[in-house]
Parts: sequence; C-alpha cells; structure tokens
Amino acid sequence: TPTIEGKMFIKALFDYDPNEDKAIPCKEAGLSFRKGDILQIMSQDDATWWQARHEGDSNPRAGLIPSKHFQERRFALKRPEVHIQPLKISNRKSSGFRRSFRLSRKDRKTNKSMYECKKSDQYDTADVPTYEEVAPYQRQLNEKYRLVVLVGPVGVGLNELKRKLLISDTQHYGVTVPHTTRARRSQESDGVEYIFISKHLFETDVQNNKFIEYGEYKNNYYGTSIDSVRSVLSKNKVCLLDVQPHTIKHLRTLEFKPFVIFIKPPSLERLRETRKNAKIISSKDEKGAAKPFTEEDFQEMIKSAQMMESQYGHLFDKVIVNDDLTTAYNELKTTFDRLETETFWVPVSWLH
Ligand code: 5GP
Repeated sequence: TPTIEGKMFIKALFDYDPNEDKAIPCKEAGLSFRKGDILQIMSQDDATWWQARHEGDSNPRAGLIPSKHFQERRFALKRPEVHIQPLKISNRKSSGFRRSFRLSRKDRKTNKSMYECKKSDQYDTADVPTYEEVAPYQRQLNEKYRLVVLVGPVGVGLNELKRKLLISDTQHYGVTVPHTTRARRSQESDGVEYIFISKHLFETDVQNNKFIEYGEYKNNYYGTSIDSVRSVLSKNKVCLLDVQPHTIKHLRTLEFKPFVIFIKPPSLERLRETRKNAKIISSKDEKGAAKPFTEEDFQEMIKSAQMMESQYGHLFDKVIVNDDLTTAYNELKTTFDRLETETFWVPVSWLH
C-alpha cells in the first residue's frame, strides 16, 4: 500500500505523448502516459505545465505534463471534431439527476460555460477527461460492499456472465428489482420480478430523480431506482448492475463507490467463430425473442463497443474481453475476489 502523506496522486483520463504535443516547450522533458495510469504530482507551480512521475516508478526524475486547466481548454476548442455520434442502442434514458462529484471552483466555471452552450444529454457525456485526483482505498471488513457496474454492447454476453456470477453465490451477489407500471401477471409477486407502481407515482419519481435509468415499452414505464441499489447493498451483498455507460458518472458517489467493468467483444473473426450457434436477444426485435446472430449484429457489437470505449473508457476500472465464456467468467470472478481484499485507487472525494 503506498503511503500518501503529503503526496498527491492523479489518474490520467487520456493518453499523452509529448512527442506529438506541439505546445510543449521541450519534448524531451515531457512525460508520456496512458489513460488509467496513476501519476504522482511533483509540482503545480506552473499554471500550464505540471511536473509528475509515474506512481511506483523507481526513476525519481519528474517530467512535464499539461495542467488540467490547460488540457481542458485546448480540448474544449477541439471538441466539434472530437465529438462522436451519440449511442443509439436502446430506448433507455438517463434520469439525469444531479451531478454528484466534487468539482473545484475552476472546474465548475469551465463546466458551466460548457453546459450553457450544449445542454443535451449527448453533449453532457463530453466532460473533458483530463485527470482525477485519487487515493488508495481498501474495503474495511465491516463496510458495505461496492456497487459493481457492468457495461457492454448488446449481445456481448454480459447477462450470461452476470447470471453465472449470481448463481455461483446467491448469498453474496444481488441484483436490483426494477420498477414497472404494467399490471402484475398472476405468477408474479410484487418486489420479486418487479416493484409494481402506478404511472402517476412513476412520473413523480422520475421528477424527483429517483431513477438511475428508465424506459418506455408498450405504453408502460420500466426503470431502475437508486433505492433498489441501496436495498441490495444494505443486505450486505455485492450489487451487480448493468446500465448504459452514460449513467456511470451519476453513480460515481461516495455512497456507492462503483467499480466499473467493461465487457468487450473479441475480434470480428473470433465473434464469428465463437457465436456461430448462439442466439442474440435483439433490442430491435419487438418481442425480444432470441435469434441467431447475423453478420450485422457482430459488426454493430464491435462498433458500439468502440464508441463506448472512446467516450467512456476513462471511467472503466477493468476491461474483460468475452472471447471464450469460461475464461471471461474466471477473469470476472478473480476481479470480484480482488475487489474485496486489495487496494484500489479511487477519487479522493470518496474518502471524505
Ligand atoms: P415484461 O413486461 O415482459 O416483463 O418486460 C418488457 C420489457 O421491459 C423487456 O424488454 C425488459 O427488458 C424491459 N425492462 C425490464 N426492466 C427494465 C428496466 O429496469 N429498465 C428498462 N429500461 N427496461 C426494462
């Protein structure tokens, strides 16, 4: 466990190569890093160029990195060309509840002007990813478990992995019970398959930002509430939640301390080989029936995964490629075991 006395650590949320940076005063003095790297800040005396080193690096020499403010400003200027199509893979909507992470005064100012010109959800995802101040965190024995968020494109096998994990230990893992406004079917019980509520109440709850996400299907609402996550965690279980990636940033709070796992498809060739006899539950299909994968499904899966990674990759704590299901499952299981015993870098705002 690294000691943090008086040291400042940041997680890089973008890739940086000083050799490709026209603005750096001296390329040789630059420090290159990858998205996800942990850096120790050695000096912030200069407003434009900070000095930093890779955490745990035995080489004590610090290198130059662009400051947060500088990087945000030049990235924001480039935005129109950097900006990518919004994801269009389901009818799920974010309830867009309050931004819950802490921002410095300077950040707030930068974000404000950004929101004023671009208010829609699609632009909301474009918070300029620069750095995040982090600190080491290890779960205490008497502490609640963390929320684990699983994201991935339709058909990648996320639900299968989730199901396998759940049945491996039903005492330890839990999933949320969604809300719906449709009538209860005779074999269903309230609070088991769904929490059945009226349309009026659902709409009020949406207004009051009680949902992480919701959607409409055949004139009824369906949604996952924040309280349903709390309910799983309060039973002292690990809560497994699969959501659209744009909801991640709303879940990143001290209360939930989410660990985000991205389930990624393998190459197109491997998809064809491994999913030859498998079926996909397509969101495009009205009845939601399972059908054999088509070539188009494979291509869409890869395209969607690429978009998720480029827009939200900085929020992923772990990427698991689902090539062979058993291998992917074992990797997932190992990740969960590590999560409970090892030290992780989390935003400083999660440690009060
Ligand atoms: P059913 O009424 O047959 O139980 O489910 C109808 C549809 O609602 C299914 O396609 C299911 O995936 C969707 N659904 C179930 N729970 C949720 C939820 O929490 N959020 C959203 N957006 N859709 C859901």
